[in-house]
Amino acid sequence: MLAMLCLVAVLGTVQQPVEIQLASGGKSDYAIVIAQNASPSQRRAAEELQRFLQQMTDAQLPIVTDDPASLSQVRKAIALGDNRLLRESGVPVDWKALGDEGFAIIPQPPHLFIVGSPKRGTMYGVYSFLEDGLGCRWYSSKVSFVPRKRNLTIKISPRTEVPAFEYREPYFTDAWDKDWAARNRVNGTFPRLDESTGGKVSYGPFVHTFYALVPPDQYAKDHPEYYSLVKGVRDTQRGQLCLTNPDVLRIATETVKRWIREMPQATIFSVSQNDWTNPCECENCRRVVEEEGSQSGPILRFVNALAEEIEKEYPDKLIDTLAYWYTEDPPKYVRPRRNVRVRLAPIGACFAHPFGTCQQNMKQFQNLQAWARITDQLYIWHYTTNFAHYLMPFPNFDELERSLAIYRDNGVKGVFYQGNYSPGGGGEFNELRAWVLAKLMWNPDRHFWTLVDDFLQGYYGKAAPYIRRYIDLIHQPVREGKTDSEDRRAHVHIFDPPTAPYLRPELLEQAQKLFDSAEKAVRNEPEVLARVQHARLWVEYAQLAQRIGKWQVVGDQYVVGRDPETLRLRDTVLEKIRRFGITNVEEWSPVQKFIDRISAQDKQSYPVVTLQNGALRVDIVPALGGRIVRILPAGKGRNILTDAGSTPEAPADGGYEEYATREYRSIGWRDVFTVKMASPTQVLLELKLPSGLEILRTVSLIGDSAMLVVESTYRNSGQSPLKVSPRSHPEFACGEGARYTWRSVAGARGEQVVADFGYMELRQENLPDGEVVLQTRGMPTLRLRFPREEVEQVYLNWHAPAHRANIELFLPEKELKPGESVRLRWEMVVQ
Ligand SMILES: [Zn+2]
Ligand SMILES: [Zn+2]
Repeated sequence: MLAMLCLVAVLGTVQQPVEIQLASGGKSDYAIVIAQNASPSQRRAAEELQRFLQQMTDAQLPIVTDDPASLSQVRKAIALGDNRLLRESGVPVDWKALGDEGFAIIPQPPHLFIVGSPKRGTMYGVYSFLEDGLGCRWYSSKVSFVPRKRNLTIKISPRTEVPAFEYREPYFTDAWDKDWAARNRVNGTFPRLDESTGGKVSYGPFVHTFYALVPPDQYAKDHPEYYSLVKGVRDTQRGQLCLTNPDVLRIATETVKRWIREMPQATIFSVSQNDWTNPCECENCRRVVEEEGSQSGPILRFVNALAEEIEKEYPDKLIDTLAYWYTEDPPKYVRPRRNVRVRLAPIGACFAHPFGTCQQNMKQFQNLQAWARITDQLYIWHYTTNFAHYLMPFPNFDELERSLAIYRDNGVKGVFYQGNYSPGGGGEFNELRAWVLAKLMWNPDRHFWTLVDDFLQGYYGKAAPYIRRYIDLIHQPVREGKTDSEDRRAHVHIFDPPTAPYLRPELLEQAQKLFDSAEKAVRNEPEVLARVQHARLWVEYAQLAQRIGKWQVVGDQYVVGRDPETLRLRDTVLEKIRRFGITNVEEWSPVQKFIDRISAQDKQSYPVVTLQNGALRVDIVPALGGRIVRILPAGKGRNILTDAGSTPEAPADGGYEEYATREYRSIGWRDVFTVKMASPTQVLLELKLPSGLEILRTVSLIGDSAMLVVESTYRNSGQSPLKVSPRSHPEFACGEGARYTWRSVAGARGEQVVADFGYMELRQENLPDGEVVLQTRGMPTLRLRFPREEVEQVYLNWHAPAHRANIELFLPEKELKPGESVRLRWEMVVQ
């Protein structure tokens, strides 16, 4: 592990910086020297150096080869890679320490040597010289920065760099651009890197390859024993392989050899479990699991044996496997061979906080440490976007700041950071993430926020300070609320909904103001303005996503997505999706589905009945189970019931609903009631069901007071007996510091704070004595009253993250004879 820490070290002794005048008045004394037999990537490096120096200084440096005749013309050289000039200069180079990708930059007046392997090392040295030495930046495939200096004199000290990771893959669409990837020194399998850029870490088959290695189509019929024994049966459909069967090893090895022949450019091949469980339970496999204490035991023994065979013929090829799901725990004894890589995927972790600093990613962190104790050949599959909402803010910068150093310190050799890889890209900070990650994948000790600011300055120009404040703003909820004794910070997961606690509507409002200023700052620069407008889309999308599912009373109709603000956001978001070529707002789903969904909402509406007096306004939707969707105290803009929209059942959720039996969402939940009678303060609703059950419900405001009464009569108007046990189901909106209080029939005081989520069943001596009070800071106090002799149970049920607290009444179950009825009645005072 210590060895990993010092990967980026300076070779040889430290020397004083040397001053070099590269250009003066648009002219240069220098030539670029490469070997006659320079590799394609070294030739590319020479051309790129020539191109960018010319853009900087106007001087065009000639590219010459190292044959004696040409060299005799050269007075001052920037010499690339191994060549005659380098050898004649006597500059020592530790080629082995540099490996395939490391480089050294060595000033030796009058020359400057940039040395590295012909594979990629020399090329990376040239890009580092241009970037770190001369200030060039390649922020995205479209946005670069090349400083202009017709007089260019630099001070340069010798330095050597070797990347911290052998495999570096920021998995974003824009990062697949060949030039971008080469210039930013990433080498993963997806960028369009080729021979001219020194190739890459190229995968044959990627993951979940067991059935590709030993295809059931070919073998299941005659050799079911090649596959998992699961509960006594060989599973050839959704099983794994029997990893202790020598024939399975032989066939899998042959398959990998065939893959190597068929895909000569590939450097690493996956031998990994299928994407489900069902490992083999045969006696031999079970014994290995027992010895090794984990299902990773038989896999790693198998993969090692296969890799040993492959090594004999193909010593440079690597074999990759997974530590994932049922193989997550490391084995006790077996260790990965030299040419084996184990890929861990910390799926399910909180990505707001650095690993090991939050309970919600401790398990993944401990698993990483457990593997790190047995190997320094890990690869990581890391996640860095919201896969359900690519365009939504994903405040994980604090975690990104640390994660690569944590991986480096735990023996990781390769990193794959999965972001938005859809064809159109355009997700939240995709370009920034890819660029900053590329820098940290090379050297995790670089200062994260300096890199972020560098990118913002280069990409957003004068708007950069506002975008930086926006980044800080959206990170507030994941930073606030941690003390020694409790952790109330918001956490971030990769499939979070728009209602996630860190997407506070008031912060999104503040973000809009910052973007007003940001747009103003760059209003005369159309290209930069477009980038700022694109960044603003992430806020607009989040606001729209929070609103599109939200049902509202508009006029005398209950509708969704039709208030002016939602319509404005919708038009803006759709225009930008088209303008910026965004193809997916979520993984696996084309953007057209999203467009269709939000467009279809226009067509739905339900009539509303409104009751109003001087103190309250109550909105009822008879067609949705006689649901009360809104109770507004006079002078306050806020519904004291929850809004619909949090579940797929919307609009039949939120607010007040009632059932004829105790099961959640049973009879009456979303049936269509008819209005029998209505006045400004009272409505009578009726539902007649084929079973003979008849429900009559009155909702009344009392005089001019803030009191609401709901009374339902369940009557059997049929010919045979019917069982009912009515249950009320109000969802009250609550916020910080909410609590229930009551006094039980036995005289005991009851109190329950609304935190996290939970429930309480209060009955018999614990039954509240006819009243439960719900108080929330900054909101009206609710007193819910009921006839206690009629109620069997009061059910408190709360979910603090969703700002919901229920006070539900259950009547005892009763068999109604024809003509009989039972009544459920409650009243509420809003104070
Ligand atoms: Zn087996
Ligand atoms: Zn967390």
